[in-house]
Amino acid sequence: MTGTSALTEASASARKMVDPFGRSISYLRVSVTDRCDLRCFYCMSEDMTFLPKVDLLTLEELDRLCSAFIAKGVRKLRLTGGEPLVRRNVMSLFHSLSRHLQTGALNELTLTTNGSQLARFASELKDCGVRRINVSLDTLDPTKFREITRWGDMQKVMAGIDAAQAAGLAVKINAVALKGLNEDEIPSLMEWAHGRGMALTLIEVMPMGDIGQSRTDQYLPLSMVRARLASQYTLTDLDDSTGGPARYVRVSETGGKLGFITPMTHNFCESCNRVRITCTGTLHTCLGHEDASDLRRPLRASASDDLLYETIDRAIGLKPKGHDFIIDRHNRPSVSRHMSVTGG
Ligand code: SAM
Repeated sequence: MTGTSALTEASASARKMVDPFGRSISYLRVSVTDRCDLRCFYCMSEDMTFLPKVDLLTLEELDRLCSAFIAKGVRKLRLTGGEPLVRRNVMSLFHSLSRHLQTGALNELTLTTNGSQLARFASELKDCGVRRINVSLDTLDPTKFREITRWGDMQKVMAGIDAAQAAGLAVKINAVALKGLNEDEIPSLMEWAHGRGMALTLIEVMPMGDIGQSRTDQYLPLSMVRARLASQYTLTDLDDSTGGPARYVRVSETGGKLGFITPMTHNFCESCNRVRITCTGTLHTCLGHEDASDLRRPLRASASDDLLYETIDRAIGLKPKGHDFIIDRHNRPSVSRHMSVTGG
């Protein structure tokens, strides 16, 4: 093979990802660890078994994997977990991935975090080109926070949010709507977030992973939350999409943005542009399906990315049309993976 044809072949194998339903894949979420320093009761069971560290991809391998996806058209990259900021040396991954922002190959590098370690890392994240982050926080009540997270300290999260804003990062708050737990608090959580210039996105709880508790007891449909908010506030639908699954409204009284992620009452699969990889290099093309493709083997099989590209293309070719999460009366999870494995 001549040099030129080898080149043509390599770039052909890094072709863009379009699934059988014509959806272009441009958004990758990477769970860099399944471990977390909190144990939110709707996310994990109390006695979670975590992956042996030897099964994890190294940070260098994660960089190579992310870079392969960027070569195949990913424009937005979100690191998540588990808690991404508890992975040892994770900032070196942010630093190395930031080169794709500098070349313009990547539009956005971001993360989802519980905020507990953010005070230490906020300004370094900003230095790496991170502009916006999502912080998960379901309550402003320290006792409830402890109850939800099993042992978390809300002050650390608040210090993390302060540090992020001081560093110039735009912060969006994500809160899971939980029946009987934070449902009465949603207006005050929204007013607090908007008062600090932060958007708030509410999320319906999904039946992912066995957590040893009834999902029926947790599930609060956002259609109900929205109706209640609409009786107190003026909500105007916004058209803008950030490439994620949330639908946004502007709240006239606060001036802030409120998002709704409704995997249960209305799925958003028709516009899905996302795939996910876990810290062991497993590719999931749909959050709500058991589909899984191993990318670790082709990654380690050769220094060239051709086999990796082929495996990715095969998986994208099987991306399901959509998901239907169901909370059944036996409380069986729709998907056996915990959210902490797949990455939120
Ligand atoms: N540790 C980080 C954090 O707390 O944001 C990232 C991982 S966490 C799994 C990502 C998001 O998923 C969080 O906002 C969390 O509340 C949400 N989450 C976890 N389990 C969920 C479930 N079963 N249904 C809906 N959201 C869930």
